[in-house]
Amino acid sequence: MKIVVLSRNPNLYSTQRLMEAGKQRGHEMLVIDHSKCDLVIEKRKPVVLYKGHKLEHVDAVIPRIGASVTFYGTAVVRQFEMMKVFTAIESQALVRSRDKLRSLQILSRAGLGLPKTVFTNYSRNVKDIIKSVGGTPVVIKVLEGTQGLGVVLAETDNAAESVIEAFNGLKARVIVQEYIQESKGADVRAFVVDGVVVGAMKRQAKKGEFRSNLHRGGTAEIIELTEDEENAALKAARVMGLGVAGVDMLQSDHGPLILEVNSSPGLEGIEAATEKDIARSIIRYVERNV
Ligand code: ADP
Ligand code: GLU
Repeated sequence: MKIVVLSRNPNLYSTQRLMEAGKQRGHEMLVIDHSKCDLVIEKRKPVVLYKGHKLEHVDAVIPRIGASVTFYGTAVVRQFEMMKVFTAIESQALVRSRDKLRSLQILSRAGLGLPKTVFTNYSRNVKDIIKSVGGTPVVIKVLEGTQGLGVVLAETDNAAESVIEAFNGLKARVIVQEYIQESKGADVRAFVVDGVVVGAMKRQAKKGEFRSNLHRGGTAEIIELTEDEENAALKAARVMGLGVAGVDMLQSDHGPLILEVNSSPGLEGIEAATEKDIARSIIRYVERNV
């Protein structure tokens, strides 16, 4: 098969691992930078041009689309869908996953556990917002943030009010969330491929930090999910429509609470922690669908 990895950087660990795993399975592998694709749209003849050349006979694409290029990246994926090329992540699901508010609404409708969350349109009624998630401490998150940037723990009402007002003033929309103390600076990442958890790790924040992101200095180790955690992760990936997903959860007193479902989950942390060939699982998923 001819498989295209849509990635802006061929040197990234995840991109390289997908290339390697695909070649090992005997496929022709190609990295294409979606930001350098032109899309030709005319009646019934969708074409993708890459550096001036028509991309032809592609069997499948594996999108690795960064949050900052969601709009154009999704358009490229959609063009491949119009060309009847299988995509490991559907364009619709990609867009959905990038909208934190919409994602939380979808997960909540599916009956999944979530930290209690408020979203407002720059409300000035900051005191009531804090009260409605049970009072401080609260976690305040900028909607467009990734890798833990723009995620703040406010321990007092004064701090929470200042932070919310500051973000409001900058026209940065935030969500305000109850702080799940008992997770103790750890979260769980379940890596789901095609309705199966292919690997799971627990990430622990460094000392004095509550955000467990590896980019924020957190450390990861392999864990065995509880049945509840596994079911929650699978359901979250399913309702988000994602064939490949990184489901982040907090372990609370009342079961797993979903933080986020990632549509381009990194492979480096999870492969290192679990010593599993996750890239191969993704390639196998593609093979089953072409
Ligand atoms: P990002 O998408 O930027 O990684 P997250 O919402 O995943 O943002 O938050 C980053 C980290 O902060 C999480 O991995 C978790 O460790 C911690 N965290 C986030 N929300 C909460 C919360 N409500 N209670 C406790 N810890 C949280
Ligand atoms: N983008 C990375 C991922 O989805 C984030 C890793 C981290 O938590 O720092 O796995």
